[in-house]
Amino acid sequence: MSAPYRPLSLLAELTYRCNLQCPYCYNPLDLRAYRRELDAATWCRVLDEAADLGVLQVHFSGGEPTLRPEECVALVRRARERGMYSNLITQGTFLTDDLLDRLLDAGLDHIQISVQAPHAELADQIAGARVHQRKIEALTRVARRPVALTLNCVLHRHNIDQVEDVIALAERVGVRRVELANAQLYGWAYRNRLALLPTREQVERARDRVREAARRLAGRMEITHVLADYYEPYPKPCMNGWGQMFLTVAPDGRVFPCPAAAAITTLRFESVTEKPLAWIWHESESFNAYRGVGWMPEPCRSCERREVDWGGCRCQAFLLTGDAGLTDPACSKSPLHALVTRITEAITAAPQPAELIPRRM
Ligand code: SF4
Ligand code: SF4
Repeated sequence: MSAPYRPLSLLAELTYRCNLQCPYCYNPLDLRAYRRELDAATWCRVLDEAADLGVLQVHFSGGEPTLRPEECVALVRRARERGMYSNLITQGTFLTDDLLDRLLDAGLDHIQISVQAPHAELADQIAGARVHQRKIEALTRVARRPVALTLNCVLHRHNIDQVEDVIALAERVGVRRVELANAQLYGWAYRNRLALLPTREQVERARDRVREAARRLAGRMEITHVLADYYEPYPKPCMNGWGQMFLTVAPDGRVFPCPAAAAITTLRFESVTEKPLAWIWHESESFNAYRGVGWMPEPCRSCERREVDWGGCRCQAFLLTGDAGLTDPACSKSPLHALVTRITEAITAAPQPAELIPRRM
């Protein structure tokens, strides 16, 4: 059934432990369920199986992956040996010069460092720890090294009005690639939705400012801006289609078509401790559940965009409706679109955002 599908990218979540408490973290809410983590030998086997399946890129993430520094170095080395491009997704607070040396020596191709906001006071408040200065130092040190670097910032109601300052920070420290992504309706961000989602005016203002900056910095800095689909007419093509290009291996070994998919409690997700990765990719019920267009209900089934956005996000559909097999309610054509407009109207009407609940183990 799934022979035409080949995974191009693996997200390897080494741990969900993290010293920060971002209220928009996409990690699952029941973090304690993931305390048992795959060991380095199993991760090496997973990388070998991924390479055999045709995976070209590995993104090491978490939680905070550098809380397992030895595993990071060993796995970057294995990825390089197997010809896969490697990316470390980190918040940077443990990225010492020594670890950086070892990672680059092992063949690391790219580092993505996140900041919570451009200025320390708000950034530290969102992170739940005084770490902003350490992150800036890490960004500055990595920018001088022979490795590709991206500065990432998740935008939400509390920091989106400072988006120009995020770009100015990147210019100051010498970063040539910036990724700005609006908080989405899953993980901790879903729990914090009334506190985090920006108003339509904020989103539109930020979009204009980012476009202006991208024009000004053309040729010097690449800026990727992922817009919030709750204010767009159509949803985003989540993961470029369920089980079509991406797979995620969680710290405990379970394999997901999307990093937020653990929230879908109606599916059983297999583990690399029990099944080969190739079997999970090609044969498992979870990967085949929403592959392609055959599963689609109306209005997606007869929609001309069904192979453009693939019916939107399955996790968002599940969290909002209780059924991952429905059209994403973020789509204006969904009969349940009011579930999204009710949230955005509540946000616009509220004089103050709701209180933030920090991510906690
Ligand atoms: S989003 Fe924040 S809390 Fe979640 S893993 Fe990243 S740095 Fe840690
Ligand atoms: S109806 Fe389905 S396929 Fe069409 S735009 Fe909406 S989500 Fe996409």
